[in-house]
Amino acid sequence: MNHPRVVVLGTDTGIGKTVVSAALSLAWSAFYFKPVQTGLDPAHGEPGDSATVTALGVDPCRILPPAYAFPLPAAPSVAAKAAGVVIDPAKLTPPRLPGALVVEPAGGLMVPVTDELLTVDLVASWDLPVLLVASPRLGTINHTLLSLEALRLRGLNCLGVVFSGSPDTSTRQAVVRFGRTRILAELPWLDPVNAESLSQAAPALTLLAPLAQAAGQRPTDLPGRDRRRVWHPFTQAATAPEALPVWRAKNATLTLHDGRRVFDAVSSWWVTPHGHGHPAIAEAVGRQARTLDHVIFADFTHEPATALAEGVCEALGNGFSRVFYSDNGSTAVEVALKMAIQRSVNQGRPRRRLAAFSGAYHGDTFAAMSVGKSCGYYEPFKDMLLPVDFLPYPCVWEGRSDAEKAQAQAVAALKAHLEAHGAQTAALIIEPLVQGAAGMRMCAPSFLDEVVRLCREYGVVSVFDEVMTGFGRTGRMFAHHHAQSAPDLVCLAKGLSGGVAPLAATVCREEFYEGFMSDSFATALAHGHSFTANPVVCAAGLASLALFEEESTLERVGKIEALHRARLGALADHPGVARPRVLGCIAAFEAVALDAAYADAASRTLKRFFLQRGQLLRPLGNTIYLMPPYCASPEELGLAWDYVEEALSLLATGSLAALESAAGA
Ligand SMILES: *Cc1c(COP(=O)(O)O)cnc(C)c1O
Repeated sequence: MNHPRVVVLGTDTGIGKTVVSAALSLAWSAFYFKPVQTGLDPAHGEPGDSATVTALGVDPCRILPPAYAFPLPAAPSVAAKAAGVVIDPAKLTPPRLPGALVVEPAGGLMVPVTDELLTVDLVASWDLPVLLVASPRLGTINHTLLSLEALRLRGLNCLGVVFSGSPDTSTRQAVVRFGRTRILAELPWLDPVNAESLSQAAPALTLLAPLAQAAGQRPTDLPGRDRRRVWHPFTQAATAPEALPVWRAKNATLTLHDGRRVFDAVSSWWVTPHGHGHPAIAEAVGRQARTLDHVIFADFTHEPATALAEGVCEALGNGFSRVFYSDNGSTAVEVALKMAIQRSVNQGRPRRRLAAFSGAYHGDTFAAMSVGKSCGYYEPFKDMLLPVDFLPYPCVWEGRSDAEKAQAQAVAALKAHLEAHGAQTAALIIEPLVQGAAGMRMCAPSFLDEVVRLCREYGVVSVFDEVMTGFGRTGRMFAHHHAQSAPDLVCLAKGLSGGVAPLAATVCREEFYEGFMSDSFATALAHGHSFTANPVVCAAGLASLALFEEESTLERVGKIEALHRARLGALADHPGVARPRVLGCIAAFEAVALDAAYADAASRTLKRFFLQRGQLLRPLGNTIYLMPPYCASPEELGLAWDYVEEALSLLATGSLAALESAAGA
């Protein structure tokens, strides 16, 4: 049975919020919970709201004790400080009870609960619908509309406004029209406020129960509806388990419809840098959507795209000066390859060959598939892809003794290839330092220097695909900042927007850009997408970029790296662990017990095993890796590692069968 649960917030203090809460408790026979009680000073005859609610006729058995009670009649943060107490917001969470629940936080929406947390943000973390109580007086329209806006900004579900007292027609109209809300009830202003007057008024609120009940319900049968209408990426729907319905995401945690919480250990496919639902990014998105949602980007420009281009060039350094926007990592790669080819055409010396590294992944559009075909995902198209030359990639891992030899061989192979075909090669593309989809295969920074040096020598455009590695993943702002040299072109996406929406960029220097200038359109880059440089996404990207400084983000990544090194280092001698490697927030190793032939089935089982334990981990073949958002706490990350260790123990004892049963197959 789904009981109505609601949070009662007021447009201000002293507007009849407690009376409305008491009336709701009576009408619904609901539990009443006041998380923080202030002004509770029995010595001075201050009975507190719980006592008021009792006096109003609510059954004392239904009144839950407050988590905190303070004598000072002030905001919770202030009253707590006066009492020498630090409020733990986790203790304020409304309990799950077998019955209806009315929660009444203190004061108005913008009242601080702690030094870091406003009432409205605390309520947003509870995921309960809200009733807003207003009272007709001077300033009501203003206070009510401001409150509604603050609720909306935080994604709270406000069922409507309950008036304590009867507003005049124009107030009513203004609240409904400008607030885009409804007035759910008007309680008469009680005089006197007592059990008798309230019991007469309360029945008016009975009708709100189904509304609150419905608001608490998740959309029904989402997995079934999804199954009938949606086609998922990289998924064999015939055998895949039902998609998990996600309700919301905050920091490193996803909350599913059934209330389960999942630690996002893969940053939602490597896109989320700071974590989910960062208020600064969400605010920027909301603000920009109301100012300029979108405009064609040929012939027009706007501040978010220009400022983000400035910010990206500054972050890249090394003389990068021109940003071409597109939609995603694949298009950033397409654009880079087209730029490299067209530039050679513009120069009157067309080059038609492309080169890439074995195991590389660069996205799923045709040219991106072509330079990534050795990753093995593109069998049906293999005869239709562009001709690309693949070169050996020198992997490094902790304790690889012949790493230098492997790199020397790879450099020699690259040199030999360019010696033979350099003059026909337009571009060489590499995922700098980490081949992501290939299983977090890492190389040394010095290899990047060799790649750039040889490309220069043979006039080949060097392209670094920093789609995954950019924006702090590797511990520096960009992976190639670990190296001495920088490439000709850099591809960015994923973290560029702060991980909230698609946005990509291909970045070059002035000299390269000038290769497209002439008085003819023929030399211009004739490429563009409908949503090029969408202002809303660019605003998100700007907010994200600012956070790197404001939150000392790279230091956070450094702490994650240290934790990775400690935990993976402790597993160095584990017989089930091979090729351990760590860079920035990425930690990876190969699980020896997972026979490569069974890697597919095994990684599905592992995925289920981890999900059962509240961990979103997606092994790539037999590679197990962690790549959390930078906000991940040591506790969250430590727990993820604990489960990795548990999986390893199970694999060591009974291999896949043990894992199957532990995953609840
Ligand atoms: C994810 C990824 C891409 C593709 O980006 P999309 O936004 O998925 O198109 C390209 N290159 C690398 C290195 C990636 O990790």
